[in-house]
Amino acid sequence: MLLSGRRTQHAAQQTAEAAGLTFAGQQLAAVTSFKYLGIAFHSSTCLAGAAAPARAQLARLAMHNCRTRCAEVGIEAAPVQLRLFGTMVDSVLSHGAEVWGVQLACCHRGSAGSAAEKLQLSYLRHLLGVRQSTPNAALLAETGERPLWQRWLRRAAKLWNKTLEERPGSLLQQALLSSVQLADGAHFLAQQSWAAQLAAGLAAVGMQLDLQQPAPVDLGELGEAAQRRQLQLQLQLAQLQEALAKGGASRLEHYVHNVVGALNLAPAMFGQRETYLDAVRRRQDREALAQLRTGSHWGAEETGRWTRRPREQRVCPHCHDGIEDAPHMLLTCPLYAPLRLNFPDLFAEPHPPHRFLRQKPCRLAAFAAACHHGGQPALISAG
Ligand SMILES: [Zn+2]
Repeated sequence: MLLSGRRTQHAAQQTAEAAGLTFAGQQLAAVTSFKYLGIAFHSSTCLAGAAAPARAQLARLAMHNCRTRCAEVGIEAAPVQLRLFGTMVDSVLSHGAEVWGVQLACCHRGSAGSAAEKLQLSYLRHLLGVRQSTPNAALLAETGERPLWQRWLRRAAKLWNKTLEERPGSLLQQALLSSVQLADGAHFLAQQSWAAQLAAGLAAVGMQLDLQQPAPVDLGELGEAAQRRQLQLQLQLAQLQEALAKGGASRLEHYVHNVVGALNLAPAMFGQRETYLDAVRRRQDREALAQLRTGSHWGAEETGRWTRRPREQRVCPHCHDGIEDAPHMLLTCPLYAPLRLNFPDLFAEPHPPHRFLRQKPCRLAAFAAACHHGGQPALISAG
């Protein structure tokens, strides 16, 4: 069968027959569907189109098991949960992705992408205790996790390298050479060859793969190129959101200006976990800090979004002095003035938000959690 991506079964069948593929001298039959590794592939969709949702469905079960186990044994530490995602969930999610994932890696535009990628991002949101609307860029920067498309591209490049190392004439190498040949020709299926997709995926991060003279891909260079690409995509996204929000209401803009610091934007901000995720053990402390950092907090700036209230009307209900955003809550709102007295080390000198947030993570998280609870008027009057 041929995964043609044609819309109808009839067109797909015709495409497959017209391709006239052979194996060991025999013409291959055109069928409309088949099952492989538990995934049903159909001729009317492409390889990734069938694989990504099917893997995501299996991985969703693995994710629930993983969360249940963590809850049962009381695992709250973020690094452990991230590692468990890698071993219990991503192993199911990205199974065989060096083959099917490369197609998604080459057409990536920085959004959440496939069902498989959405699942990873939803796990990260749950881990940080932030809402679904929290920007993907902030999630990945906070947790230091690589987006799945990068992992898939890396795995595909490794498979490419490994195949080139095989003894000449091995089955794997024959398959690779056929794929390269197909990519090279003017055949209408050229774009669907695995080698062509790998080359396109690498080209998307600014690396060239010469299919005429196959040579190993430098994996170190690939890692750096992919990080640069990620930053570039996120910057485009930030600019877009800025334009949409007309002057700075987006969460991503908050993240860039108040957390990272606009001058500190660099590819290195991806791929490294923020220290508070390792240092802060208590889940509620960690979540309160993560919420303030990602802009997914309890203040009017965020809650006003739910009712589509214009930004200038999302003023602080406690002091009515300015918009209730993260810097207002952390640094100026008089509601939290008594709490600040308990954290003199954090307020010893005035800081802009992005410097303030670079102080001791445990203290920041304890303060954020105290604000979260102290910010509830009912609690204040009761206390
Ligand atoms: Zn206030």
